[in-house]
Amino acid sequence: MKSYPVNGRFGEFGGQFVPETLVPALQELESAYLRWKSDAGFRAELDGMLREYAGRPTPLYFARNLTKRAGGAMIFLKREDLLHGGAHKINNTLGQGLLAKRMGKQRVIAETGAGQHGVATAIACAALGLKAEVYMGSVDIERQKLNAYRMELMGAELHSVTAGSRTLKDAINEALRDWATNVSTTYYLIGSVVGPHPYPVIVRDFQSVIGKEIRDQMRRREGRLPDAVVACVGGGSNAMGSFHEFVEKRGVKLVGVEAGGAGRGRNAASLAEGRKGVLHGMLTYVLEDEDGQIRETQSVSAGLDYPGVGPEHSYLKERGRATYVTVRDKDALRAFHLLAEVEGILPALESAHAVAHAVKMARSMKKEQSIVVTLSGRGDKDVQIVAKEAGLESE
Ligand SMILES: *Cc1c(COP(=O)(O)O)cnc(C)c1O
Repeated sequence: MKSYPVNGRFGEFGGQFVPETLVPALQELESAYLRWKSDAGFRAELDGMLREYAGRPTPLYFARNLTKRAGGAMIFLKREDLLHGGAHKINNTLGQGLLAKRMGKQRVIAETGAGQHGVATAIACAALGLKAEVYMGSVDIERQKLNAYRMELMGAELHSVTAGSRTLKDAINEALRDWATNVSTTYYLIGSVVGPHPYPVIVRDFQSVIGKEIRDQMRRREGRLPDAVVACVGGGSNAMGSFHEFVEKRGVKLVGVEAGGAGRGRNAASLAEGRKGVLHGMLTYVLEDEDGQIRETQSVSAGLDYPGVGPEHSYLKERGRATYVTVRDKDALRAFHLLAEVEGILPALESAHAVAHAVKMARSMKKEQSIVVTLSGRGDKDVQIVAKEAGLESE
């Protein structure tokens, strides 16, 4: 499989479904990326920031107690939750922030739903001396006041979007409008392996440090590659970053876990229940209703609540190279409690989906086999939700 897509396509997926006015901006981005990605000075500066500022490499932890509880394959946790900012998102925002600087753009715009990508963008821009402006729906700002405040503390300017449903999709529209108007001064920093080409490639490459470290750490510790790599899928960046190194290694099973929400029709499982369609500039699997309108999504984890998925995942699914499953809210919550109790780790609710599936998989595997689960983020942000759900359960 080609890792740099011909014509920006992974098989039939991906592409550039954007207004004519944005095509030159995407071309400028692609040539800048191709120029800088293997530049020694760029690599050294990014690696330095990842190491000294973000906290790489992250540990690969053998979860002895979880393994015992599951009763089968060894379960290892790739601890992206220990990064600065509490999640893998900083791998990407630092990478694209540095790219923006090399391109001579001092102004960075981003859009955010729950606020996690907005915060990661604010962090990277503060550290790199860039101006960040973040579009966020007014409804989302109200729901996620703390994240909105965090961004402002770090010097980002917040644009409250009051159009339409005043949530993520309206924020995306506003960000795109801004970019089209201010292309010469502005870098648009996308937060997952989604959007028009070349974003899915750029974000994947910046996140692929996760899988490279997994490879090295497993070789050093176990003398071989893992039998399976499991990660949750929202837009798909922590999963693509975990998978990329292993796509050509047939012995490694790749499993993406989507948000199963409250069950059929009430979830964010684009690959499991979606159809091929165009969303946010890409052809991929999307959740639509009978009229072809983008369907409302539902998940206990804000980070997985997205009606599309990165095009490379659609391709890996179609090729049969990766498997995608769903885990429901209640099972993710159960896995959150399990990991807290047996390992003393509070996973992000997003990551808890992956933990839930890994435990299930481990049971049907042999003791000498191994699974690496990417713990994409830490769960401190989710403690209130967990408390509320626990209260509901005991009523
Ligand atoms: C944003 C986020 C996700 C979902 O994004 P992907 O692009 O699918 O990785 C998953 N986990 C955490 C902790 C997040 O913050």
